[in-house]
Amino acid sequence: MLSIGSCCTLLSAVVFLQGKPFLSSNTQTVNPPRPRAATLVAPKTRVAPSAQDVAQAGIVVPRVQKAAASQSAAAPRTPEEKAAVEALAAEKLSQAGLSRESYAFKQHVYNLHIARGLRSGRERIYDLPAAQLATIAGTDIKMRRDAALQLGRLLSAAHADLARDLAINRAAAANDAAAALRRSRARRVRELAINNAYRPASRQFGIWDRNFQKYYEATQEKRRALAANEPNGEAGGEHGAAAAELLREYIGVRVAAPGFSNHQGGIAVDFALLLQPDPEQPAASTEKELGASMAQVDPWKESWFWHWLKARAGEFGFVEYEPEPWHWEFKPQQAGQEAKQGAK
Ligand SMILES: [Zn+2]
Repeated sequence: MLSIGSCCTLLSAVVFLQGKPFLSSNTQTVNPPRPRAATLVAPKTRVAPSAQDVAQAGIVVPRVQKAAASQSAAAPRTPEEKAAVEALAAEKLSQAGLSRESYAFKQHVYNLHIARGLRSGRERIYDLPAAQLATIAGTDIKMRRDAALQLGRLLSAAHADLARDLAINRAAAANDAAAALRRSRARRVRELAINNAYRPASRQFGIWDRNFQKYYEATQEKRRALAANEPNGEAGGEHGAAAAELLREYIGVRVAAPGFSNHQGGIAVDFALLLQPDPEQPAASTEKELGASMAQVDPWKESWFWHWLKARAGEFGFVEYEPEPWHWEFKPQQAGQEAKQGAK
């Protein structure tokens, strides 16, 4: 699942790897809830979208993947789909700064990555029409309508629970280890934020294109060593078949193949989290921004927000992409199944 399912997840990692701040200019903090006492008690009821919500939102759920994987299943079916696929062709990749040989290699690796998506049996994901997108409440970030609606509710519930945990007083925490932990984690939170959600294929393509050089350089030594170890140079050198497969695999866990990202489908979100020093131990912790970074998996898993998401995101139809604790996807059916299994 990692190679393909990671599609979405990995894109966000790119933002970090590019050396930009974790919280890109698109990152938005979410307006905290109005301080009404009633909101401090989180509703326990499940608020997955009703059939009516879905109908009102006019959602066309993307075609589901076929059990039988075949290349034809992902073939474009309309002139619009055909044009969309052509816009993502390897020939459209930038050649800037590359020799002819390196450019041919770049295109080859790209095609391998796309081919892997096709072979997986996943259908291509086409950009969503504007009418199927909606803004997540409190931000101007967009997702598919049903996902945006539920994410707005999720964030509102998270803010309410955060306020509840912040209200735990020191005396109460002294007698309850779990409450003490929730309290201390909550006190580190400055902002719950969203790094990004919906991304059209053109953006995905640009991310792949721009980051290739970095991945190419990062794997150069390994590709050369691989070639040197092949008997009779069968691997074809640093641009040979084995080297291409190595680089494809390297890229595959860092960025999604354009056309195969759940961010394109409008159901994936990358959260971000702004931490502040613990007010009771300001010297022992620092201000920090958690974003889409594999180097931050541990701090994510120590954070209030991640623990909250693990406990409650399923109520809103969101499931975690586990290798990346910041990346969550709106999959109400799967969330429902996981809830049932958890209850057993
Ligand atoms: Zn993601």
